[in-house]
Amino acid sequence: MLEAKLAMSEAMVRVRFAPSPTGYPHLGNIRTALFNWVFARHNNGFFILRIEDTDVARLVEGATDVILESLRWLGLDWDEGPYFQSQRLELYREAADRLLKQELAYKCYCSTERLESMRQEQMKRKQPPGYDRRCRNLTREQRAEMEASGITPVVRFKSPLEGQTSFNDLLRGQIIFENSTLDDFVLLKSDGYPTYHLANIVDDHLMEISHVLRADEWLSSAPRHVLLYQALGWQPPQFAHLPMILGADRSKLSKRHGATAITEYQEQGYLPEAMFNFLVLLGWALDDKTELLTREEIIKHFSLERISRAAAVFNKDKLEWMNGVYLRGLSSEEFAQRAIPFLEKDLQTAINRPLDIGYVRQLMPLAQERARTLAEVPQLSEFFFVEELEYDVGLLLSKTDKAEAIRSLQASVARMDSLKDWNAAPLEAVFRPLAEELKLKTGVFFGLLRVAVTGRTAAPPLFQTMEVLGKERCLKRLRAALDKLVV
Ligand code: GLU
Repeated sequence: MLEAKLAMSEAMVRVRFAPSPTGYPHLGNIRTALFNWVFARHNNGFFILRIEDTDVARLVEGATDVILESLRWLGLDWDEGPYFQSQRLELYREAADRLLKQELAYKCYCSTERLESMRQEQMKRKQPPGYDRRCRNLTREQRAEMEASGITPVVRFKSPLEGQTSFNDLLRGQIIFENSTLDDFVLLKSDGYPTYHLANIVDDHLMEISHVLRADEWLSSAPRHVLLYQALGWQPPQFAHLPMILGADRSKLSKRHGATAITEYQEQGYLPEAMFNFLVLLGWALDDKTELLTREEIIKHFSLERISRAAAVFNKDKLEWMNGVYLRGLSSEEFAQRAIPFLEKDLQTAINRPLDIGYVRQLMPLAQERARTLAEVPQLSEFFFVEELEYDVGLLLSKTDKAEAIRSLQASVARMDSLKDWNAAPLEAVFRPLAEELKLKTGVFFGLLRVAVTGRTAAPPLFQTMEVLGKERCLKRLRAALDKLVV
């Protein structure tokens, strides 16, 4: 019975996302969260959320809320947590005490000034930075003296001075570190807070984390963690360090490339389902061609084996393209629902609010065809709302001369006036033959009408646009165009 239970718990996948609230989560952070979440869901495991808030000086107000909001926005629901490390200090202290007792750690009394001048000196001599282990071998008397002086010590780990530390990374295979390159890193700071290394492994142990899937930048911390697990007599989890994300210029992804807070993508009108699909492809692929995958398909097929070893490249154009595909995949009602807040917010203030929702619903399918983000919708559809179009008269004359433009617009007004059935098909049935009568190529004639009714040369299909605008508005706009030409 016990054995069966053990086997089950061994197979149980428990992963965590462990952000530090020292800033708003960006694309890379959320990609890590997403890989963990998908891995948990694929394996019917647990996804645990842990806020690593022990670096008090670097905490950013509100960051935790933004982290939670970003996860919710993408639908990355957690099964346990959020745990806050700041509420678990006792546990880390206990672990540090244990290591002190076993003489696997020691108290260090060096002042920040001393450490600083040591660092300067090392830099000057081009030596690798690291603590010089001055307090590692203090005698009992020296220690008592330090204690008596009232200095609050930090606790440092006694890294082995020689030998190697190795572990298996599920993506990179055997990783070997020379112990001589590791310094005696701090476990407990003088403010009583643990460092990342200590808190991270105590929690991964207590939370029974089976797999640590995290960014590549943490690989250099892994040997320290393995040594700590060994010192505490605990079984380490399996590690998988995820490939780096590079910008289009192949340098490390930064703000410059669009690695801004994930909530900004939300504000720019990206759909969470598109973002989800896009993010999973930053390092994972189903095969060498499939780009569009639903959440269910991703969960079903996700595996660590298909995570690439090579760095992923962030391509903003691809994200925009993908978002456009997801936008067009929405029902027109759903699209309207999502676009309305953007219209309310970003259409010029001169346009009356609240917007006429019936009218908005009519024109949304036209914007839906063209928009790559919801934030583009106001700009794409502004001409539907404004009372008077503003455009340069030159646009009306880009393909015809003035006399021809006037003649064509006058004939159009006359036809429109007598038209009863104001729908795209009958409109087309009137204006195609009119082009012929006017001896104009349809492209030229329709281009002229397009500028007159929308104020632009590129817009949704002309007759559908006219249908939505309605007869009155179209007539008014053609007359306004004539006025522009006649003066
Ligand atoms: N708190 C670390 C971070 O901000 C966690 C790293 C890890 O997953 O071990 O990314």
